[in-house]
Amino acid sequence: MADVVAARTLTRRAFVASTGAGLIAAPLATLGAAGANAADAKPGAGAAPGAGMPGAPPRAVGRPMPELERPLADPPERRLGWAVVGLGDFALNHMLPAIARSRHCRLTAVVSGNRDKARAVAAAYGVPERGVYDYDGFDRIRDDPTVDVVYIVLPNTLHAEWTVRAAQAGKHVFCEKPMAATEAECRQMIDACAKAGRRLMIAYRAPFEPHNREAIRMIRAGEIGPVREIVADHGRPLEPKKPADEWRAQAALAAGGSLYDIGIYSLNGARYLTGEEPIELRATFRKPPGSPGPDGRPVDVDQGIAWTMRFPSGAIAHCTSAYDFANVKRIQVMGEKASLALDPATEYEGNRLLVRRETGQMEPKLGESSEQFVGELDEFAMAIRENREPRHGSGREGLQDVRLMQLIYEAARTGRPVAVPPLR
Ligand code: NAD
Repeated sequence: MADVVAARTLTRRAFVASTGAGLIAAPLATLGAAGANAADAKPGAGAAPGAGMPGAPPRAVGRPMPELERPLADPPERRLGWAVVGLGDFALNHMLPAIARSRHCRLTAVVSGNRDKARAVAAAYGVPERGVYDYDGFDRIRDDPTVDVVYIVLPNTLHAEWTVRAAQAGKHVFCEKPMAATEAECRQMIDACAKAGRRLMIAYRAPFEPHNREAIRMIRAGEIGPVREIVADHGRPLEPKKPADEWRAQAALAAGGSLYDIGIYSLNGARYLTGEEPIELRATFRKPPGSPGPDGRPVDVDQGIAWTMRFPSGAIAHCTSAYDFANVKRIQVMGEKASLALDPATEYEGNRLLVRRETGQMEPKLGESSEQFVGELDEFAMAIRENREPRHGSGREGLQDVRLMQLIYEAARTGRPVAVPPLR
């Protein structure tokens, strides 16, 4: 939560700078800086005719470190080296640029079935030729001292095999969501990392997003009172002709449908916002596996499912997930004292948080949503350095979502409520 506090401090600072208070504060700050420069200044240099501030010399001089919006990044040799497996849409458009912006990580290898693409990406990020791997040659990464972390950005059913291979090569593993197809695979991944003495993190970005972080903080601080209900909806149109959606329409690569892909944000969101684990589920398919897709041909994964979850406190979450909504990514939290509307909640950029009380509503100005990518990367780097579990996205957290998604499918198939056994 330290970042949330930093974001609020910044916002207050920006506010002060734009008001009368800023007018008073500014000369004081300038005087402080001039004072620090006094040793640099030649006698009389600060008293040039017309110069506004005594002590500000009309030449280039050193000044104290300004107040930093983000701490300085580690020097390259201290950063953890990352190998990215799978150079698709998400890796190239979001995560590689985020690695470059991170404080503790650097790209040192790429793994791809397309050598030309891999070389072009490696060249763009300054990765040497020896850091370009193909899938068959991946296992020699165990002898590459520049790689500390392997990041798996492959279709869902490949996550388990590649996590186990990376752990066996002695590397820490950062794996995309959903963690895997089944509970058994998730347990294999956790066991492989434990056996190798390496850390595992599932790439849940939303808990690192400033608006979601502020919502979590407000709820934990009791600012909205006890949470009564959550409404969470995630959907977008499936476009099976696009390569990134081609595999999403096939159970053999996607494992599940809209639920595994984007409904997981409704599910995980309800868990991190309440801070509780559900004890009972009910679910209904709107478009079960086998329903016609956008081009009329059957799609073998779900394209629309609705479910409710009951939590130990009595809170209830009503969730939807769909491949035939226009773009919807929203979560509402109804508390006894206030309600929160995250809309959008889990976009890559431009998320918003609206706080509604009986006395009115406000929209806090927080940091940029794109901080979520750097946030999750640097959190994993710190978890590795400090030899601890990541604050969000442990293997156990990924496993719990996969278990719950399987139970949601069971509840939808049987039409009966399902009691959720506690996670062992
Ligand atoms: P994509 O299709 O764009 O990329 C997949 C990559 O895997 C491609 O480079 C492809 O060449 C490679 N690949 C290797 N074997 C393959 C096979 N048999 N079939 C298809 N591709 C194969 O997909 P994407 O959207 O980048 O998604 C990749 C992973 O990242 C998925 O697990 C997805 O859930 C996850 N993802 C996460 C987020 C997030 O916000 N955290 C966003 C998008 C995707």
